[in-house]
Amino acid sequence: MSYLSTIFGSNVFNDSVMRERLPKETYKTFKKTLAEGRAMDTAVAEVVAGAMKDWAIEKEATHFTHWFQPMTGITAEKHDSFISPTDDGKVILEFSGKELFKGEPDASSFPNGGLRATFEARGYTAWDCTSPAFVKDGVLCIPTAFCSYNGEALDKKTPLLRSMEVISEQAMRVLKAFGNTTSKKVVSSVGPEQEYFLIDKALYEKRIDLMFTGRTLFGAMPPKGQELDDHYFGTLKERVSNFMKELNDELWKLGISAKTQHNEVAPAQHELAPIYSTTNIATDHNQLIMEMMKKVALRHNLVCLLHEKPFAGVNGSGKHNNWSLGTDDGVNLLEPGKTPHENAQFLVFLAATIKAVDKYSELLRLSAAVPGNDHRLGANEAPPAIVSIFLGAQLSNILNAIENGTPLESGNKEPMTIGVTALPPLPKDSTDRNRTSPFAFTGNKFEFRMTPSSGSIAGPNFILNTTVADTLSEIADILESADDLDKAVQSLIKDIMKNHKRIIFDGNNYSPEWIEEAQKRGLSNIKNMVDSVKTYIDDKNIAVLDKFNVLSPKEIHARYEIQLESYAKTINIEGVTTLSMAKTEILPVTIGFATSLAKSITAIKATGLSADTSAQETLLIKVSDLNGKLSKSITTLEEKIAYAQNASENVLVQAELYRDEVFTAMNDVRCHADQLEVLCDKKLWPVPTYADLLFRV
Ligand code: ADP
Ligand code: MG
Repeated sequence: MSYLSTIFGSNVFNDSVMRERLPKETYKTFKKTLAEGRAMDTAVAEVVAGAMKDWAIEKEATHFTHWFQPMTGITAEKHDSFISPTDDGKVILEFSGKELFKGEPDASSFPNGGLRATFEARGYTAWDCTSPAFVKDGVLCIPTAFCSYNGEALDKKTPLLRSMEVISEQAMRVLKAFGNTTSKKVVSSVGPEQEYFLIDKALYEKRIDLMFTGRTLFGAMPPKGQELDDHYFGTLKERVSNFMKELNDELWKLGISAKTQHNEVAPAQHELAPIYSTTNIATDHNQLIMEMMKKVALRHNLVCLLHEKPFAGVNGSGKHNNWSLGTDDGVNLLEPGKTPHENAQFLVFLAATIKAVDKYSELLRLSAAVPGNDHRLGANEAPPAIVSIFLGAQLSNILNAIENGTPLESGNKEPMTIGVTALPPLPKDSTDRNRTSPFAFTGNKFEFRMTPSSGSIAGPNFILNTTVADTLSEIADILESADDLDKAVQSLIKDIMKNHKRIIFDGNNYSPEWIEEAQKRGLSNIKNMVDSVKTYIDDKNIAVLDKFNVLSPKEIHARYEIQLESYAKTINIEGVTTLSMAKTEILPVTIGFATSLAKSITAIKATGLSADTSAQETLLIKVSDLNGKLSKSITTLEEKIAYAQNASENVLVQAELYRDEVFTAMNDVRCHADQLEVLCDKKLWPVPTYADLLFRV
C-alpha cells in the first residue's frame, strides 16, 4: 500500500472501521438509523461506544471529549479519561453509549447572549453522527452540537445541521416535481480554500499586537511589497515546504483531503484547499485545518496567522466557500447537464440561488462579518461589501433570452424554450473568470468569496442552505400544482430574472463605477460588521430563519448580542494593545531619539567649529513634532476607550462607539507612529518591522 493510503484517515473512526469492527447487524441498524435521521437505539449505542473505545485505545488514546464549536469561533474540548476505578483498587477503561451520545459540559463560560439563565449553567452536547469521530493528541474526539438545557443552539454547528435538513427537504420537492424517483436526499457540499500567513516565531514574540490581536497595529510599508507579483504560485521556501508536508500528514491522518497548496499574492501568504465534502463535515474539517496549521507551524518555529488583515497595505486573507447541491445518487444540481430536461432542472436551481442571494443579501453579508473582515471587504483586494453574482456572459445571455422570450443565438430564430432548446456547453474552468465577484458561478458550484479566513464556515453555509431552501420552497409550490412543467419553469425563471436580475453583475467589482451602479440598483453596501449585525434582527431575516426552524427569534437575538459584544471586545483589546505599545515601547524610543539629536547638535556646536548641524535640526523638528502629535493621540485614545468601556448597558451603542470613536483614534496613533518609524534609527525601533516579518521566513 502506498504511504498516502496507509496514513489517510488512519485516526478516524470512519465507515470502513465501523464495518470491520461492529457486528454486522449493529452496523446495519446504525447506518439505517443514520440514513433515516432517527434517534439511536440504546443497545446499538452501547455497542458502537464499546467498539469506538477499543479502537481509540489501540490508537493510544487515554481520554475522550465531546468536540464542539461554541460561538467564540474556535473549537472547545473538555477531556474525560476512559478510566473507571474498580473495587479492588484497579481501573478499567469504560465508555458508555450515553457518554458517546450526550455530554453535559458546564456552559457558563461560553458566550450565550442571555440564552442560559445563570442558575442553569449546564448545556449539553449531542453527537453529530454524520461526522466521524477521530483521535487527536491522544484524545478521542466526538464531533457534537452544543445546546442550552432548553435545546437552544449555543454553537455554530446546530443551525448548520438544521439547515442541511431544510434544504434537502425543499430541493427534494423540486426534484420530485421534475419526475425524480430515485434520489432520497439532497446534500449541500463545500470546499473551502483557506488562506494564511506564516511568520517567524521569534519575531512574532516581539510583538504584543500580533500576540494579543492577531494583526499588526503598527508598521510602515516596506520598500518592497507585493507589487512585483513574484510570490503568487512561486516556489516554496524549504522551511515552508517542510511545514506543508507535515501539515498534510497530520490532516491526512484525520481523513482531511488536503489537496492543493500554493503561495498566495502577498509575501509570506499561502493557501490550502481540501477536496469538498458535505457542509457539516467540511466545517469540522476546516476547524481542524486551522487548528493544525497553528500547531504544526510552531513545530517549525513559525507562527500561522489566520487574521483577515495581519498587515495593513498588504493583501489580506479570506476563505473561498465553494458551495454546491447534489443528490445522494450523485447528481450535481448546479451542473447544467446535457439534455433539455436536465438543463431545465439546472436553470431552476440556478434561479433559486439567484433569488435567494438577492432577497437575503444582507444575511449573506452578515455571514462574513467578523471584525477582521472590515479591513478587507471593499479594499480592492477582496470583493466589495456589496453582494452580487457573477454568472459569466454565456449564462447571463441564456437567462436574458428566457426573460425576454428571444432567440438564444444570432442566426437562430426560435426563442429560447425550456424543455426544448438545449443549452450550449458552458465553459467549466474558464481561466479568465471574474476574480472580483463576491459570489461567482464557476461551472458547477458557486464560490462565495467574502468569507473571512479566521471564521467558521458554518455561518455562510447555514445561510446559503436556508435562504436557497426558502426560494426552492416557493418554486416547489408552483411546480407541484403546474399542469405543464416546462411552461411553469419558463415563466418562473422569467419572473425571477425580472425581479432579481439586479443582483447579477459580470463586470469589475473593484471599480468605483460599480459602487455607483449598485446604489442605483438598490443593492445594499454594508461597510462594517456593526451595521451588518444590525440586519440580523430585520423582520425578513428573522422570518426566514424561524420559518424553517433553523434559528428561533430568541436564538437570533442571542446571536445578535453575542456578535456585537464580540466586536466591542475585539476593538477594546486592539485599543488597549495600541495604547500599551505606543506608551511603553514606541514613544520612549522616539523621545530618546529626539534627545540624541538634540545632544548631537549641542555637542557639535560646543566644538566651536562652523560644522553644519542642519541634518539633525531638520530631523529633530520633524520627530519632535510627531512626538507631540503621537502623545496627544494617545491621550485621545485613552479617553475614547474609557468612554466606550463605560457604555456597556447597551451593546449596540457600545459597539458603535468602538467603531466610530475608538477605532478612529487607534488609527490616528498608528498614523503618527508609522511616520516616526521611517524617520528613526532602525537599530532603535522597538519591534520587528514589516520587512522583517514578511521577508524573513
Ligand atoms: P480555485 O481555482 O478557486 O483555486 P480550485 O479548483 O482550487 O479553485 O477548487 C476550489 C475548491 O472547490 C476545492 O476545495 C474543490 O474541492 C471545491 N469544489 C470542486 N467542485 C465542487 C463542488 N461540486 N461543490 C463544492 N465544492 C467543489
Ligand atoms: Mg477560489
